Amino acid sequence: MPELPDVVGFQRYLEATSLHQRVAKTRVNDGRLLEDVTAGRLARCLKGRRLEGTTRHGKYLFARAGEGWLLLHFGMTGDLHYWKGPGTDPDYAQVIFDFENDAHLAYINKRILGKVGFIHDMDGYIDRQGLGLDVLAGDLTGGRFAKLLAGRSGPIKARLMDQSLIAGVGNIYSDEILFQARLHPQTDASDLSADDIQKLYRVMRRVLRVAAGKGGDLGKFPRGYFLPSREKGAPCPRCGGEVTKIVVVGRSGYFCPQCQKPTY
Ligand SMILES: [Zn+2]
Repeated sequence: MPELPDVVGFQRYLEATSLHQRVAKTRVNDGRLLEDVTAGRLARCLKGRRLEGTTRHGKYLFARAGEGWLLLHFGMTGDLHYWKGPGTDPDYAQVIFDFENDAHLAYINKRILGKVGFIHDMDGYIDRQGLGLDVLAGDLTGGRFAKLLAGRSGPIKARLMDQSLIAGVGNIYSDEILFQARLHPQTDASDLSADDIQKLYRVMRRVLRVAAGKGGDLGKFPRGYFLPSREKGAPCPRCGGEVTKIVVVGRSGYFCPQCQKPTY
């Protein structure tokens, strides 16, 4: 499932391939992915426009096109593929942007969970989605993070994944962050000390920056990272103990019971 580092990878890919080419045609194969826009309107909004630059908020990617923004959310199985010249559309290509230079960008999504839209007010859209600050945003300081967590209870894993608090930490990366912070996933957020919170903040930002730098490719992660061992019974990369599965607010998480002892 694409998480923030993967979306950063899609952002780089789109920027490296698809900017500054005029859109001739937009083809929608499955309209269920469209959000607040019809296939006809999406095509009209993009026709003759160029994608001029991108920005990201949490797992949402936005590409500037004229007066508005093309919005892409990758859901569970989203991907992008760019090619030049003729050729058949890739499997599960749900929306295809045909450029005038005979190049094409396909938004691929096998399970039809995701979003493609066109919006004029990006900040308003982010507000309406109820998204908190982006986890890598410059204005998310350690102090701001502590304020956001203040007065919150419930398992810290759930708080990290709460997109209204901070946007961009998903189920998978919350496991890496808690492993590196040596916190048990069920630790109640209200039990964290000020030092714990600052450590968590530093680890969270470092993990996501490092992972984004690798485009989410687990094979390129530094030694000692947890995610390549994220399965039941796998050896912990730190102590060699067995990784254990746990369900936290309905989501399956993984942790090392030796390295991440409960505080209660
Ligand atoms: Zn361990």
